[in-house]
Amino acid sequence: FIYLFHSNITPGKNGVPVAENFRLEPSTIADTLQAGQVRVKTLYLSVDPYMRCRMNEDTGSDYLQPWQLSEVADGGGIGVVEESKHSNFAKGDFVTSFTWPWQTLAVLNGDLLQKLVPQLVDGRLSYFLGAAGITGLTALLGIREKGHVAAGANQTMVVSGAAGACGSLAGQIGRLEGCSRVVGIAGTDEKCSILVQEMGFDAAINYKKGDVAKQLRELCPGGVDVYFDNVGGDISDAVISQMNQNSHIILCGQISQYNKDVPYPPPLPPDIEKIQKERNITRERFLVLNYMDKQEASVLQLCQWIQEGKLKVRETVVEGLENIGAAFQSMMSGGNIGKQIISLSK
Ligand code: NAP
Repeated sequence: FIYLFHSNITPGKNGVPVAENFRLEPSTIADTLQAGQVRVKTLYLSVDPYMRCRMNEDTGSDYLQPWQLSEVADGGGIGVVEESKHSNFAKGDFVTSFTWPWQTLAVLNGDLLQKLVPQLVDGRLSYFLGAAGITGLTALLGIREKGHVAAGANQTMVVSGAAGACGSLAGQIGRLEGCSRVVGIAGTDEKCSILVQEMGFDAAINYKKGDVAKQLRELCPGGVDVYFDNVGGDISDAVISQMNQNSHIILCGQISQYNKDVPYPPPLPPDIEKIQKERNITRERFLVLNYMDKQEASVLQLCQWIQEGKLKVRETVVEGLENIGAAFQSMMSGGNIGKQIISLSK
């Protein structure tokens, strides 16, 4: 089957993505390959928050193209080569691409594929879409490029969206890079307990229960030095209010604003912006794709930490291409713990 994207969200208007924005259709692919082409069987697909922006006619970013009505949707994917007319690939190779079509089988341009080494993740191939892929890179490079974390500096890091793909890694990497205290903010008690018991966070706050600002004050008595921001909105306003002089925001994402008709990054409310300026808090836009020269070395670092057990990885796996729309809807509303993956491998 080929999966076709169909949008019913009017561009520019506020709207929550739903499974019905997508539909599954049977289709066929060419039986003969042209030079440079590779036929692949899809094994894993990724759904990610940035896809919400691709559902608008204006994605708000130069590097993101809008999905067109009735075109096959695409995103991060992994598959196995069934036949190759590209010199870099042979039958049985595992390959990945950022622009993998949502299809069970596909004929792809080999120049757009990267070969994967399954041994780096002990055969857990889907990790290349998460902890050993773009989300891991986002957490690691976000911290290294914008976090100003220094070993021995006794820094406190707060992570929002902490039980998601990026956030769960960011807190652990913050610790590995030298933060002395790491506090997460997430949407359920179960997520908070996994962060503390499994992932080594010092504490976690369920933002849907109680007063976030009050809990932050109790849990970060020395203030906040580094804030890994995945969500924006009220949660971020509460964190920024408690940030120290010369501290740093890693502006990773603003998922609480993605269904709204606002620019990216959304401006801070005036009182919070005043705090940010007065305390000289950095808040530079971070985009992992700007650091792809560091991809290879960073993936090796992430794989090493995973193999050593220093980086704990969680995935929420949904089976079947027909469920990808529901998986996207679920991830956007907090149904995932760790990386949301769609498996077609069975
Ligand atoms: P994710 O965190 O695995 O999944 C999204 C999570 O966001 C949900 O599980 C949900 O968890 C939380 N959420 C949804 N609506 C929310 C709201 N209104 N307020 C607070 N939390 C909300 O997704 P991800 O792939 O790791 O992405 C996380 C962030 O990183 C996104 O903002 C994404 O755009 C950004 N990102 C940036 C880059 C970059 O280069 N800058 C690269 C990749 C990703 P709860 O249950 O906790 O609500």
